[in-house]
Amino acid sequence: MEAYSVQEILSGLPKGTQEHLKELTDVFLLENAKVNLSAHRSNDRCWQGNILDALPAIPFIKNNPMFNAQCSVLDIGTGGGFPLLPLAITFPDHRFTGMDSVQKKMDAVQRIIDTLKIANVMLVTGRAEDLGNSPAHREHYDIVTARAVAEARLLLEYCAPFVKVGGHILLWKSLDIDDEISSSKRAEVELQLRRLSPVIYDLGAQWGKRQILVYEKTARTPEAYPRPVGTAKKHTL
Ligand code: SAM
Repeated sequence: MEAYSVQEILSGLPKGTQEHLKELTDVFLLENAKVNLSAHRSNDRCWQGNILDALPAIPFIKNNPMFNAQCSVLDIGTGGGFPLLPLAITFPDHRFTGMDSVQKKMDAVQRIIDTLKIANVMLVTGRAEDLGNSPAHREHYDIVTARAVAEARLLLEYCAPFVKVGGHILLWKSLDIDDEISSSKRAEVELQLRRLSPVIYDLGAQWGKRQILVYEKTARTPEAYPRPVGTAKKHTL
């Protein structure tokens, strides 16, 4: 399967957007020096590992006619704001929500948003297992994203309740995870999800190829999900 080049995706973005992404790197690194948000501490590593790594979702979102200007996106376990912030900068007309259980991370991301005047992001502090039952969030989003939060079968239980029927889940993963994918089959069936072709991308020298797993939600999530905090980890689907 052909891999997208992140450099090509980047060079296809308007110059102003590219500049805004560079500014995000600088502002993020200042916050990262105060609050432990990411292991990517140098400008190069942050640019490649956090900013460019978010971009392969762009062709998927742009090429899908159901994601119009009103599209709503939730990033679960956003941590320091990835992939949330690069995508919010790239799609200024879409509405983004970042969610994480750690308040001090959300405070740091809010400062980054304020400094960069990013107008299309709101943040929610809480656990996905709790907020997935809240009427304000359940089946409310066109796209739910997550990177480096948990293994796929657990993450699907966190993500599925938030997605509208017909919407999509995008999970950032490394390439060789056949076991992780096959062990998430039961979760796919139980949560009414259909796995589509992944987005394969090449992050460049030293980083190599990676993928975004893509799932479509085909029917409403059963009321039993998400289960209370801790249950999904103990009795994984
Ligand atoms: N997505 C970011 C990235 O790729 O840089 C952060 C990844 S960090 C390794 C995982 C984050 O997920 C942490 O900030 C953690 O607090 C959050 N997290 C883990 N489980 C969660 C849950 N059940 N609900 C909300 N946030 C969660």
